[in-house]
Amino acid sequence: LARNPGEGEFHQAVHEVFDSLDRVLAKNPHYVSESVLERICEPERQIIFRVPWVDDAGRVQINRGFRVQFNSALGPYKGGLRFHPSVLLGTVKFLGFEQIFKNALTGMPIGGGKGGSDFDPKGKSDAEIMRFCQSFMTEAYRHLGEYTDVPAGDIGVGRREIGYLFGQYKRIVNRYESGVLTGKGITWGGSLVRTEATGYGLVFFTQRMLEQSGRSLDGARVLVSGSGNVALYAMEKVHALGGTVVGASDSGGAIYDPNGIDIDLLRDVKEVRRERISAYASEKGMDVEYREGANVWQVADGASIDVALPCATQNELGEDDARLLVASGVRAVAEGANMPTTPAAVRVFREAGVLFGPGKAANAGGVATSALEMQQNASRDSWSFEHTEERLSDIMDGIHARCAETADEYGAPGDYVIGANIAGFTRVADAMLALGVI
Ligand code: NDP
Repeated sequence: LARNPGEGEFHQAVHEVFDSLDRVLAKNPHYVSESVLERICEPERQIIFRVPWVDDAGRVQINRGFRVQFNSALGPYKGGLRFHPSVLLGTVKFLGFEQIFKNALTGMPIGGGKGGSDFDPKGKSDAEIMRFCQSFMTEAYRHLGEYTDVPAGDIGVGRREIGYLFGQYKRIVNRYESGVLTGKGITWGGSLVRTEATGYGLVFFTQRMLEQSGRSLDGARVLVSGSGNVALYAMEKVHALGGTVVGASDSGGAIYDPNGIDIDLLRDVKEVRRERISAYASEKGMDVEYREGANVWQVADGASIDVALPCATQNELGEDDARLLVASGVRAVAEGANMPTTPAAVRVFREAGVLFGPGKAANAGGVATSALEMQQNASRDSWSFEHTEERLSDIMDGIHARCAETADEYGAPGDYVIGANIAGFTRVADAMLALGVI
């Protein structure tokens, strides 16, 4: 890690996985003698490039683009693009590293990668977003392809951005290569359920965890952080399964709505009008508490909470927040975002006996459905919503079973962190060894 100075989030992600591996390395010393650990945390390729574009005032703007192609032992690199001003190389490496094991856990033929830019889409016009995406793809296209590297969305990259990126790719390569990007619109190669997949998959996984101790989401009071793609569809599925979502947030503040959040209103505020979550509180009225600058775990302090689903961003749920949640009676925490829970907070949950679903397992439904989109593109087919959701549900069942069985096998029953890390690691490590010194 001394070779990667200043990449704190990447170090954190590597520690999080390697801390789980003692038991598997003791049983399989060839992973050590064949230097698998050293190999697996060195990306196969890292691309950093200039993204020049012209804003609406005619000024030239410069951003930095990244694509980290981490591991292709199981299939083409697969992982999203994040557009957010906080994006640095270390951010992309942490996300790419997580993605290797997440993708392995799905059981599907996809390697791990991630990319993005420090471009901030907030406050930009559609035309500016399009010019930025076109410039990004003008460099990125030469590294992508349906058999090479297949990006998708992430924070700041939704269907609109994927559309502009795909349009530019198609124009440059002169080929309608649908499988080069996922998260596309339904009329131009996208898959039904992809938009909902990460949030729905997270809730399916949470339900499976709860069932292990004879509980369910029916009647549960749930907190969700964020109000973006993952958060909104997690809320929708919680409601469908009989739970009540009582809190949500964005980067400006958090709401607590004791009677249950009106999902249609929140979707209108965030997805259609692209406004702040404070607008929800103003419109819904007196019963809703909004606290500027607070996170959702704080705004619900004192309420009784059964389930927490952090769905915003990395390291957003700290040790103090975890203690608040334990005091409120939380039974299960599952990560919709990537690495939202700090290591100290994870320790609090594990010591308190709270079920904890790590992101690489719990939020894998998004990338799994992206792989289903690739299957549909390859076979020139498109599946119904019901069929695709059923496939997603089966995949989440499979991930849950793989984690639970692996945790049992390695003497840590109920520990999904150990189960996910070992199951993901062994699948990738075995493939790497089978392919020789790569
Ligand atoms: P979006 O951009 O759609 O939503 C992100 C949400 O988080 C927004 O509500 C945003 O608020 C909020 N947010 C961002 N930073 C903070 C912060 N510091 N404090 C509180 N809220 C914050 O992204 P996604 O929903 O796609 O992604 C969310 C997480 O899920 C990320 O970690 C991503 O990597 C992960 N993920 C996403 C997948 C997907 O399919 N989309 C798949 C697997 C994981 P605001 O609107 O104010 O910016």
